[in-house]
Amino acid sequence: MDFSIPKDDEAAAAAFDRFCQDKLAPRAAKADASSTFPKESWGDLKEIGFFQSFYEGEYGLGLSWVQRCMMEESLAKACASTFLTACAHIGLCGAPVYYFANPEQKQRWLRPLVDVEKIGCFALTEPGCGTDAAALKTRARKTGKGWVLSGEKALITNAPIADFAVVFAVTDPDAGYGGVTMFGVDLQKAGVTKSPAYPKMGLRASPTGGLTFEEVQLSDDDVLGEVGQGFIHAMQTLELGRIGMCHFGLGIAEAAYDCARKYATERTAFGRPLARLQAVHFKIADMKIEIDAARLMARRVAWMKSKGEMVGPMASIAKSYATEMAVRVADAAVQIHGGWGYTTEFPAERYLRDARLGPIGEGTSEIQRELIARDLLSE
Ligand SMILES: Cc1cc2nc3c(=O)[nH]c(=O)nc-3n(C[C@H](O)[C@H](O)[C@H](O)COP(=O)(O)OP(=O)(O)OC[C@H]3O[C@@H](n4cnc5c(N)ncnc54)[C@H](O)[C@@H]3O)c2cc1C
Repeated sequence: MDFSIPKDDEAAAAAFDRFCQDKLAPRAAKADASSTFPKESWGDLKEIGFFQSFYEGEYGLGLSWVQRCMMEESLAKACASTFLTACAHIGLCGAPVYYFANPEQKQRWLRPLVDVEKIGCFALTEPGCGTDAAALKTRARKTGKGWVLSGEKALITNAPIADFAVVFAVTDPDAGYGGVTMFGVDLQKAGVTKSPAYPKMGLRASPTGGLTFEEVQLSDDDVLGEVGQGFIHAMQTLELGRIGMCHFGLGIAEAAYDCARKYATERTAFGRPLARLQAVHFKIADMKIEIDAARLMARRVAWMKSKGEMVGPMASIAKSYATEMAVRVADAAVQIHGGWGYTTEFPAERYLRDARLGPIGEGTSEIQRELIARDLLSE
């Protein structure tokens, strides 16, 4: 395995990390407290070309997977809410357009996403089903002129602020997994309603909400990928999303580690810094061991992806470990801060609240284990 990156790329990743710390990190606490998406951060990310870092050719800079993952980690470390909104926009929503759209659709949908003229979302989950994605109730009915979309999506990152959605709907109720189709939907269309953002535990500056479609008229040109291939396209997209979620966990864990380490060296108890107490000492070491293990797993997946290899179970292993690790590390950071860790005086409590999405989103930890075990037992 070779995760080395050229010196210039390393310098670029370090510059992006500095940018995130200087510009985005200082806004994170206020944005969380007011549950407001930091629009300035969005503008700054656009200006620095972050949204060009995902794809190749006319839609991006063609960065390596390792380099892109390093950038994602820096973003999550500075502001996990900004990571979630930005990666749902350009990753979860942009990826199916980049990989499965025809050239006309890419111009129509991907161009405005990459140029950040429109905000995108990925709408798979429904009020009645998330993990069981084959139980979708949203329907698209074929007509002489195209399709009519009806149904409801829930828990969708960016839904309250999005202009465009990749939407999954059943087009053949008798065909099971093969009866789901993916559509590109302009959210200005008649019949679309967006819910307000839900109040939630963490990632409060990243709006999550629902979408309702009432007899929304779509054309045949709005079918994204092939009719009946939507479930497979959704799973392929979520596999890529899992790589992103590894770096979501890593970024939050690094931030939690940094604040715990700082506090442990500054705060004294029994006449010496907390960091000198063996119990704290060991916690700091354990945090670093876990972060390092998760980073190696995540880099392995990015490296495999760079070589065009299938990452399936490796992505599940890395995603479940890195996101669960982030919860443990953030929890240890709260503990090291004692009572102050429980207050908003320090960011440790926010890291713990934010980290908690990791084992749920883009395939729960239980489902990752299911996928890993299925792969192991099929050998
Ligand atoms: C902040 C946030 C942002 C989100 N953003 C998006 C988004 O942009 N787009 C989108 O489509 N969705 C999004 N989601 C939804 C998310 O992907 C789902 O919540 C997740 O997939 C779980 O689905 P569910 O909530 O319906 O839980 P359920 O599927 O009802 O699961 C409940 C529990 O049962 C377990 N379980 C279910 N089935 C099995 C099984 N077969 N074996 C073992 N355990 C099982 C689960 O692991 C979980 O612990 C978001 C959610 C949140 C909280």
